[in-house]
Amino acid sequence: EAKSNFQYVTQKEMQGLLKPRTKFSHKGTYGHALLLCGGYGKMGAAVLAARACLRGGVGLLTVQTPAIGYDVLQTAVPEAMLIPDNNRKHLSRLLESMEKYDAIGIGPGIGTERLTKTLLGQLLATTDLPLVIDADAINLIASSEKLKAQLPKGKVIFTPHPKEFERLVCKSNNEYERLEELREFCRVYQCYMVLKGSHSAIATPEGDIYFNTTGNAGMATGGTGDVLTGILTALVAQGYTLKEACLLGVYLHGLAGDLAKGTVGEIALIASDVIQHLPQAFQQLR
Ligand code: AMP
Ligand code: MG
Repeated sequence: EAKSNFQYVTQKEMQGLLKPRTKFSHKGTYGHALLLCGGYGKMGAAVLAARACLRGGVGLLTVQTPAIGYDVLQTAVPEAMLIPDNNRKHLSRLLESMEKYDAIGIGPGIGTERLTKTLLGQLLATTDLPLVIDADAINLIASSEKLKAQLPKGKVIFTPHPKEFERLVCKSNNEYERLEELREFCRVYQCYMVLKGSHSAIATPEGDIYFNTTGNAGMATGGTGDVLTGILTALVAQGYTLKEACLLGVYLHGLAGDLAKGTVGEIALIASDVIQHLPQAFQQLR
């Protein structure tokens, strides 16, 4: 069995990955992302993911959100199109046609209602699109062997924080063991995973593990993970491979956090500050 390969993500490599905009392009060139996010009392997660997705450079964004979030999202994120779910508080209905989308992000603020679990099962069973799976979507999959068995191979990026990782994969006794469990899970399910933390670890189905070098403790605040989901979904929709999206997205997210730290410091930093500094982060990579 191949030994796992540990590497650091460097600025120079990330500069090489970034695709410039081309003169005669149009919004269709940069993909159409679909975000399934938000829920009663958690519309903020949807707003953050949607704003970050747009700042991540996606051509078009549609958000499907519980009906209760309609006014909130249309007001907070006028650039996004909106599909209200027919359930008021929770996501419940899978869209009939997904043909026009290039990537789907699911999880921020969705909760773990039974209806939402059913929707997630239908999505996993039917879609050919690449998926960024975060937050309560991870928790729902963690709670069901049936959903785990339905995971499409080579199509999924998981973005767990350590607690979500523990639920989805397992508890581990130490950091070394945890990285080996991470590697094994990605090999078995042929998925990508960003295990978030102070040095987020990015694992591939081939068994490689990369450590991110950007970010700071100011980012230990609610909503920063939702921002990452938006960025990753945007990059995948633009045609970056899942591996490129993970490396570049996690790097940019941390860099935006570092730039935010430069203006607001670590203590007062909030997730919106990360989004606000994403443009500068892209500029630094050019
Ligand atoms: P979540 O827990 O889902 O909101 O995600 C938190 C995000 O903030 C992840 O992208 C983490 O990598 C990042 N983060 C949290 N704490 C730190 C830290 N101490 N240093 C760097 N990044 C952090
Ligand atoms: Mg989170």
